[in-house]
Amino acid sequence: MPWLTEYNHPGLKLPPITILRINHRPFRDKRITTHVALTARAFGANEILVDSRDEDLEKTIETVSNNFGGDFRIRTGINWKNHLKKFDGIKVHLTMYGIPVEECINEIRSEVENKSLVIIVGASKVPPDAYADSSFNVSVTNQPISEVSALAIFLDRLMMGKELNLDFHGNMSIEPSRRGKTVRYVPSLEQCLKILKEQGADARIIEHSKQVSELAAKIAKQSHANLSLVIAGALLHDIGRTKTNGIDHAVAGSVILDELRIDKRIVRIVERHTGAGITLEESVNLGLPEKDYTPVTLEEKIVAHADNLVSGNSVVPLSVTVSRYREKGLVKQAERIESLHKELSDICGIDISDL
Ligand code: SAM
Repeated sequence: MPWLTEYNHPGLKLPPITILRINHRPFRDKRITTHVALTARAFGANEILVDSRDEDLEKTIETVSNNFGGDFRIRTGINWKNHLKKFDGIKVHLTMYGIPVEECINEIRSEVENKSLVIIVGASKVPPDAYADSSFNVSVTNQPISEVSALAIFLDRLMMGKELNLDFHGNMSIEPSRRGKTVRYVPSLEQCLKILKEQGADARIIEHSKQVSELAAKIAKQSHANLSLVIAGALLHDIGRTKTNGIDHAVAGSVILDELRIDKRIVRIVERHTGAGITLEESVNLGLPEKDYTPVTLEEKIVAHADNLVSGNSVVPLSVTVSRYREKGLVKQAERIESLHKELSDICGIDISDL
């Protein structure tokens, strides 16, 4: 969809979308406006502006965004008439008196190219100015329906269903399952230390992991990687050593964290942290579950390599690690570590040994 600009959700191109909620009555509409805001956020909008001041509503929506991710914003107490007047983009007003969505959605999609979009939804009766000021008055059936469903269907038609697979990179995420309920989470630093202790990690593992996490955090900041994932992944990377000190400790760690419902991205960081990764072929020779354990994401690469550069409690030069691998006859693995070092240094724009 070339008309969409990459904005809120890297990987999916969406126009900047604002929802303008007018005639919100805090004493009466709190619940329905909350649902409008949640739907807007989940379906890929960037922000909601609400005309009446409502701090409770702001707090509710901010809490959801903090837990479940994305950078959806809410502002209340907005003069909607001024906002609409100044708004330089496409204005859509959702109303049962409008043109059926299926008749105008293609035109809206092409008009919004390289422009922002504001979508007006009313709470109580919408004044005539909103009809007159809008580029499009759009109906989702000509029957009276809830603004929540009108908004959801409009956004879904606009984005042709692609919004259903948005990734919000939140600290909490839902793992869909046919039965039951699975919520995964990104643990905080304190939670990671608690998990390590509960699993029986000794002081040596904990001190080493803290050191790896400090170095990994420096690389993550320099390369704009996801810091919470890197810190948690680094702190937990050796948790499998509470079960085994063999080459299989990374797999053992990933099993522990998977059972603890830790975010899958962290489970994979831990599973793929050995050297610069273990190939499918090597996994067979090493007697590991047959799999490619090569780090793929930036966060996986950072944790694996920070671990390469920390021996016990101290940071060591790359040459020390590489020699250790070569002395063991692990020539290919040593080369892979060198090239991972170069790759991360290129991304950081500085040799990571100098960080
Ligand atoms: N009672 C209010 C009135 O007289 O205007 C309208 C309440 S209605 C439930 C709230 C909002 O839902 C409307 O302002 C409009 O944005 C939206 N809405 C309701 N039915 C709609 C429809 N069929 N198509 C599009 N939007 C609709």
